[in-house]
Amino acid sequence: MPYFPFKGIPRFYDIGGFLSRPSMFQRIVDIFVSRYSTLEIDAVAGMDARGFVLGPPIALGLNKKFIMIRKKGKMPNCVSSGEYECEYGKRGGMCIQKHALSPGERVLIIDDLVATGGTLSAGIQCVKLLGCTVVECACVVELKMFIDPPPESGMPNRTKLFEG
Ligand code: 5GP
Repeated sequence: MPYFPFKGIPRFYDIGGFLSRPSMFQRIVDIFVSRYSTLEIDAVAGMDARGFVLGPPIALGLNKKFIMIRKKGKMPNCVSSGEYECEYGKRGGMCIQKHALSPGERVLIIDDLVATGGTLSAGIQCVKLLGCTVVECACVVELKMFIDPPPESGMPNRTKLFEG
């Protein structure tokens, strides 16, 4: 769908399509579970909000705890990332509860879609603030136009964001 949530966004990718088809939803969960069952992971973290739909079945499939990385101000007793830029503009930061993880734990971060990577990098910051490691970030949809766009396009560059 073009121009949602506002004009200037070329297309909205709606995950409602596969969520309403149990065999497709199950297949997607199975693909993630199969990939991550061979890696050493202690927790699955879901990004607010659609990571809360995809993360829990993946965590259950891996028999690991599920934790939430939420928009700042939505949970008590948290540490927070700084502000970040995403496809939709500037955002106020993400947060994670201090007791959600123990130092040294290895975390898989799940979201539905990566565009500029701003949201995921805020999630990575949160996990690192608790002294933990992000093993990988995984999404169902990747918007490739944000990987390395020409500078004249004015679009944020995901490769630069994840450098270092
Ligand atoms: P980024 O921070 O990578 O620029 O944007 C990704 C975040 O915005 C994700 O949390 C994702 O849920 C949301 N998002 C951006 N565009 C879309 C879209 O077209 N469809 C969906 N489902 N989510 C989007």
